[in-house]
Amino acid sequence: MIVGIDLGTTNSLIGFFQDGQPQLVRNVHGDFSTPSVVSLDDEGRTLVGLTARERASTHPGRTAQGFKRWMGTDRTLRLGTRDFRPEELSALVLQSLKADAEALLGEPVTEAVITVPAYFNEAQRRATRTAGELAGLTVERLLNEPTAAGLAYGLQERSEHSSFLIFDLGGGTFDVSVLEYFEGVVEVRASAGDTRLGGEDFVQSLGRLFVERCDGLAPAEREALLQGGAWWRAAEQAKRDLSDADRAAMALVHQGRRIECTITRADFEAASAELLQRLRRPIERALYDAKIDVASLDEVVLVGGATRMPMIRQLTTRLFQRLPLRTIDPDLAIAQGAAVQAGLKARDAALAEVVLTDVMPYSLGIVASQQVGDALVADRFSPIIERNTPVPVSRIGVYSTVVDNQKSIRIDIRQGESPLGSENLALGVLDVEMPPRRAGEATLEVRFTYDANGLLDVDARETTSGRITNTLIHNTSTQMDAAAIASALERLALLKRHPRDEEENRYLLERAKRLYEDRLGEERTALQAWMAQFEAALNTQDARTVRTARQEFRQALDSIDSGFRF
Ligand code: AMP
Repeated sequence: MIVGIDLGTTNSLIGFFQDGQPQLVRNVHGDFSTPSVVSLDDEGRTLVGLTARERASTHPGRTAQGFKRWMGTDRTLRLGTRDFRPEELSALVLQSLKADAEALLGEPVTEAVITVPAYFNEAQRRATRTAGELAGLTVERLLNEPTAAGLAYGLQERSEHSSFLIFDLGGGTFDVSVLEYFEGVVEVRASAGDTRLGGEDFVQSLGRLFVERCDGLAPAEREALLQGGAWWRAAEQAKRDLSDADRAAMALVHQGRRIECTITRADFEAASAELLQRLRRPIERALYDAKIDVASLDEVVLVGGATRMPMIRQLTTRLFQRLPLRTIDPDLAIAQGAAVQAGLKARDAALAEVVLTDVMPYSLGIVASQQVGDALVADRFSPIIERNTPVPVSRIGVYSTVVDNQKSIRIDIRQGESPLGSENLALGVLDVEMPPRRAGEATLEVRFTYDANGLLDVDARETTSGRITNTLIHNTSTQMDAAAIASALERLALLKRHPRDEEENRYLLERAKRLYEDRLGEERTALQAWMAQFEAALNTQDARTVRTARQEFRQALDSIDSGFRF
């Protein structure tokens, strides 16, 4: 069975295709969404998902979240005394999803389709594949998230030529893509986005608003409060409340004092004006690159949890002059699409043959010198494949020496849109020896081949001898090489996992501890008592006693906590 996985910044989901439809898998808590959070407990055991999320405020130094943002970089995150690469943390999330699917299916799961933002670059895509490998999964395909959304909304089932715009505002990223379906081929015509813009930024804006608005705080205290991050949970909850109500109460305990204030939806929207403005540019760019105007789009689809905010619905209705489609739960659409793609990969009989083609999200080229009049200008970006070219694609750029008897040409491979080579993302360097010739007479053909998974191969052919110097980019510094992957696999194998069957008990205890930190007075006393009672029940090791106590404990916690799960 091939599974489809939405590996999200905030939440991750897993599904598969069966009985003619995508099916999503529930985790041990009964939820489809597993928070993409990892925590290490005092015994060195890893906790993933809801329980880890509860520990984010009580054990911030032992808990990591938001690491999808660091995929493709060398940044490590420290949990206790151990450093983890983002690929390793993602692998722990993938393993947890894999275990949920295996528990449901009763068979090992080894192959997966994993979704990535269309805007993910080369390094980020490679890192996602590595995460899959570390989790024991063969990544059959990396699927762009908007394509997954298009599949979930049945773009491929339309009989005629149609075009969809997918507007995806998730926890940490924003993607806009124009998809086209024509005669069995789903093509991403263009994608644009912002890898640093998502629902989380709206939480930050609410957090700042809260700290600015609440009374009785000295300026230094406001700063400390903002830096501390204790406001996060209250702000996240308020953001959700403001999706359904005109105002939301925000409260938190700071240095033994309860700080509270009410934020209105209008205040929140005014404070988010700049973020809304930032959403426009990728939309314009995607439409421009796809050479399509708003009126010619057949559907506009909203996905990503953050599109639940009324201001996003208003903005998109206004910009696209229509009501966008939102029939599938925006948190589930991408995972459902990944499951459809898994079905396509497995050639499920219920699915008509569909070919997916994607575009390359960035321009790829090299840094070159350019002759301008008499002068030789260095550091120009020379694109070989322009952004939004359908993939797979192979293109050649021809370069020649600029000085007499130049011994070699350095191919500095870059990705991006800046006219200055050095401002674009460095992917690798290739040095090619050149025969002694007068300037301009020795030439080099540089071929870029970009495959359907968004991976790049570069080879350079020196034209006099026909010698191909190299075909692989080796030195993307952010990439894990085979030895690094092998040692990460070993490290991960040695990590102890928190037992699955004790997960719910552990979650309730961590939630109680988090509530204890948040609350004061009588509520604290009650929490102490409930925790003691539950621990006593656990110590009896009697299954029935534990089950009854767990139910009571959960109800008690729900009575003082809204019980929201995010
Ligand atoms: P995703 O990455 O698609 O799972 O989206 C997660 C983002 O959606 C997070 O920033 C959530 O805070 C946000 N989100 C989820 N539910 C709501 C809601 N009811 N109102 C506003 N934002 C929400």
